[in-house]
Amino acid sequence: MAQIELRNVSKRWGSFVGVDDFNLTIADKEFLVLLGPSGCGKTTTMRMIAGLEDVTDGDILVDGKRVNDLEPKDRDVSMVFQSYALYPNMNVYENIRFPLKVRGIDPKTHDEKVRRASRMVELDDFLHRKPAELSGGQRQRVALARAIVREPNVFLMDEPLSNLDAKLRVSTRAQIKNLSHELAVTTIYVTHDQIEAMTLADRVVVMKGGVVQQVGSPTEIYDRPANAFVASFIGSPAMNLMEGQVSGGVFSAAHVEIRGLNAPDGPLTLGFRAEDAALAPQGSGQITAPIYTLELLGDATMISVRVGDALVSVKADKSYRAEIGDMVSFSIPNEICHLFNAKDGARLG
Ligand code: ATP
Repeated sequence: MAQIELRNVSKRWGSFVGVDDFNLTIADKEFLVLLGPSGCGKTTTMRMIAGLEDVTDGDILVDGKRVNDLEPKDRDVSMVFQSYALYPNMNVYENIRFPLKVRGIDPKTHDEKVRRASRMVELDDFLHRKPAELSGGQRQRVALARAIVREPNVFLMDEPLSNLDAKLRVSTRAQIKNLSHELAVTTIYVTHDQIEAMTLADRVVVMKGGVVQQVGSPTEIYDRPANAFVASFIGSPAMNLMEGQVSGGVFSAAHVEIRGLNAPDGPLTLGFRAEDAALAPQGSGQITAPIYTLELLGDATMISVRVGDALVSVKADKSYRAEIGDMVSFSIPNEICHLFNAKDGARLG
């Protein structure tokens, strides 16, 4: 079992703060995803858990024991990186077996363990091949098998899908999800791809500038983003956000007026998701504007209009047809609105 706890963990290089006061308990067998834009501190957080990076402040505990001073090899974690780092001269079998040799695990058990791990990632027919004779997806699966074969208590994965093409990414993602379920191992997974985070995670940690913005299940983060940054980072398309002013419960922005809001007078950032707004008969919605762009997605049509400085998206039925420049109107009922403080972006209510 492996419960991981980060207590007030910070990482600084000189005066630069890479990770700032990170606090979290990761439950045994949990699949936790660290999500955020480039440079937000995801990899650094994971490297501190692995022992590859010193902690400047705070403590990391595994099953209640402080591991700050343990060497990476003594931490019982397996890491999978975005570059597969396979040994080019070894075949698949030898590559997968390598961690067992390094750790001095009884050679009599190697064959069974290698075969089991390679079966799990569906590579049993490729054991004799060298890495150069494999596709990118197959190489990444060798890296996964090499992490599995040690039967660690913790998996750390740093953008393991980023070198794969879109199709392989989806199938390998499904495989990782299935593996983590089957192996029931605590997994920490780093990505900047919100779809990967939403599909894989039990809980997501959204980070920005070294600071945790929100921790929650994918649904919590999608349905109740803690601030405007999280709202703008999660979802495809991201939540529509408009800057405006509230006076007497009426939100006004360029070409938009929404009444009956429960918000204090003053500046406000108002958000709503593309799929929550509804097309309204011509001129009857809160927003009426010419279509800026129209995207046929197959299962739906995404309409964008320009509202002041913002581009606002609304999802319409797949049969919806119109031309760029045609006028469109849509309604934004109060109950779909997310309200954020205009200054710091914090969620209101
Ligand atoms: P990416 O998605 O691009 O990998 P990330 O969220 O994983 O980004 P980190 O690699 O954790 O980001 O880096 C966080 C910040 O710390 C970045 O601004 C980075 O430049 C900085 N940083 C990382 N390593 C060092 C170092 N050894 N010395 C100084 N600054 C560093």
